[in-house]
Amino acid sequence: MQLITLIPGDGIGPEITKAVTDIFAAAEVPVQWEEQNAGQTTFDQSGELIPQALLTSLEKNRVALKGPITTPVGKGFRSINVTLRQKYNLYQNVRPAKTTEGIASRYADSGIDLVLFRENTEGLYAGLEIFDEHNGIADSIARNTVAGAHKICRAAFAYAAKNGRKKVTLAHKANILKVAGKVMLDAAQDAAREFPEIQYEEKIIDNMCMQLVTKPEQFDVIVTTNLFGDILSDLCAGLVGGLGVVAGANIGDDMAIFEAVHGSAPDIAGQGKANPTALLRSALMMLHHIGEHAQADKIEKALNLTLRNKAQCTGDLGGQASTSEFAQNIIANF
Ligand code: NAD
Repeated sequence: MQLITLIPGDGIGPEITKAVTDIFAAAEVPVQWEEQNAGQTTFDQSGELIPQALLTSLEKNRVALKGPITTPVGKGFRSINVTLRQKYNLYQNVRPAKTTEGIASRYADSGIDLVLFRENTEGLYAGLEIFDEHNGIADSIARNTVAGAHKICRAAFAYAAKNGRKKVTLAHKANILKVAGKVMLDAAQDAAREFPEIQYEEKIIDNMCMQLVTKPEQFDVIVTTNLFGDILSDLCAGLVGGLGVVAGANIGDDMAIFEAVHGSAPDIAGQGKANPTALLRSALMMLHHIGEHAQADKIEKALNLTLRNKAQCTGDLGGQASTSEFAQNIIANF
């Protein structure tokens, strides 16, 4: 039994985590959950935003499944998500986007199958923000290190080579960001030289957005900086059926935290409307990460069968099922 840290999060987090743990229990996946939470929920209970017990659990287990955690906008505490990614140097944010039979989207027939590699610890998320009240100047500094840029670019190429992918596209803004942008450009070109069998191209971020909505099937692996990656991954979610279905992983050299691309969705929290697919798919990435490939394939097969029957899915996919009914429908398809 592999021990996995389970962070339910808040908002829709507890509902979708329960759906995933129910599915794993029914499939008899050999993992044991160690539940620890963070954010406003734990702050209200114990005065700790990130309890030491959570850190101890992460440092011991080295693998976690995490629900979304709310971050106050424009005030309050710094993002728990960003803090964990930076603390454990989880520098790769890997976010696949693929059209799937049964999931409606304007691009359903286009055959999108791409994987976004977002640098996860630096750039505009480095936390270097200063407000000069006297002069009314707000500075948010994008810090890209040469080492960090090389690590994420190399990871994207290594993934492409290992998974039979043909092309890596760097999305950048080095025409304007001549310093931080060029660090990324140089790193990607170095990685491209190291993997000559992988085709390499560069696209300026604004053109990249346009190309993604007009001809998304041309992309294979995309690598980019933190903020661009955050935005592009929601755009890619929109291409393949919405935020309810896209998975993600935060990966470092010796720890990985798997979580959906979406946030805590306060507009639908506690109503049984949340789609558990995104977190389930993240959990399947986790199973591949720990070598449980057969278990992952079995659950994915049941998920895909369920997705083909709209009525068995949640409202965002055109169905009538609640979060827990959707989970039961997946279980019935094993
Ligand atoms: P969101 O992703 O929570 O929601 C955007 C829209 O998508 C909402 O209409 C929501 O109802 C819908 N949606 C999201 N997930 C869904 C699901 N599983 N099923 C059905 N519909 C779903 O984005 P937001 O509203 O901008 O952010 C809410 C909070 O989440 C913020 O505090 C933000 O900081 C936080 N957030 C956390 C993470 C994380 O924990 N990794 C990621 C993104 C946002």
